[in-house]
Amino acid sequence: MHRSLKKMFAILFLLPLLGGHWSCAAKKDMEEKKIVYQGNKFIPESLLHEAKVALSYYPELKDVEIDFKYKKDIKKSFMQAQPNKSNLFKGKNDRTYNIFISSRFLIEKEEFTMSDVPSEVLIGWLGHELGHVMDYRDKSAMGLIIFGFRYITSENYIKRAERAADTYAVNAGMSEYILATKNFILNNSHLSDTYKERIARLYLSPEEILVLVNKLEEEPEELLKE
Ligand SMILES: [Zn+2]
Repeated sequence: MHRSLKKMFAILFLLPLLGGHWSCAAKKDMEEKKIVYQGNKFIPESLLHEAKVALSYYPELKDVEIDFKYKKDIKKSFMQAQPNKSNLFKGKNDRTYNIFISSRFLIEKEEFTMSDVPSEVLIGWLGHELGHVMDYRDKSAMGLIIFGFRYITSENYIKRAERAADTYAVNAGMSEYILATKNFILNNSHLSDTYKERIARLYLSPEEILVLVNKLEEEPEELLKE
């Protein structure tokens, strides 16, 4: 087979794989009335308050279309931010994003529902996901495909991506919410050790977030360049 053809097939083959992380939109999103906020944010009524608070920290995302939606099962996670695949190649400014929220939070055998999660924890979680959107915004379509590929193949890369999202959120002024979310996960006896260990390994720890906050107070400009 011709080499460039091979490459094309490889990309076509990889695209659905990206779905593993950016998995395809759930076939049956949980039906819930959505509120349109700022003309381009689609938010389930039950999350409206939390989403509005989180969005208020990101004025940069005012013109960015984001669809917050419930999804039945998200592997290993409670929420997930993804560029919308149908307009991925439209150019940075016309791209839209999805933030999926697991309708039930099943970690190992314990099941959580939204009502088990305190409001400030949800705000922190949404703030982290919006941090991912900030990170995606600057990437080209190809950059996003490479990002998705690395995310599913390299734990080091997951670590970098998750830390970038937390850093955006802390930089946006959301450190208290982010800390509430971390503490909720790490100190929650209902969550499995495997899950907590994964979070501790891949995400910023509460201590690292405090270091970040201190740094931010000293040199706000430098933080995101690192
Ligand atoms: Zn994340």
